[in-house]
Amino acid sequence: MKTTESKKTRNTKHQKAVLDLLKNAEKALTADEIREQLEDHINKTTVYRMLDRFVEAGKIHFVTGQNGKSFYALCKTCNEEPPQHIHNHLHFQCEVCGNVECLPNTVKVPQLPGYNIRETQLLIIGTCKRCISSTN
Ligand SMILES: [Zn+2]
Ligand SMILES: [Zn+2]
Ligand SMILES: [Zn+2]
Repeated sequence: MKTTESKKTRNTKHQKAVLDLLKNAEKALTADEIREQLEDHINKTTVYRMLDRFVEAGKIHFVTGQNGKSFYALCKTCNEEPPQHIHNHLHFQCEVCGNVECLPNTVKVPQLPGYNIRETQLLIIGTCKRCISSTN
């Protein structure tokens, strides 16, 4: 009994740590980056499972970058039942530093009669302003 409880406490602690990381990050983070920044060493599967659960709960969203990796960021308005991730903000991936960030810019997601939208992933690829200013 005692072990189950401490495991549960540890999971709660990890969940909070992951959400805090995403809240304080200036860019979207990959599962690897999240894992590296956590104090405890959690295995990859646990991190992915946790992230999946957060996505299902409408707490975080992800966008798949150029390299096929998923980048996770906090949701601000998706905590709804049932959670839907209809994000209309843009994401930017920099080809130089590889960073993915959520942009404040939004686009109008068109109505698609006859289709059921589950999520949107809007990604722009180019060079970010930090990389542009560091090469000039
Ligand atoms: Zn969302
Ligand atoms: Zn960059
Ligand atoms: Zn985003």
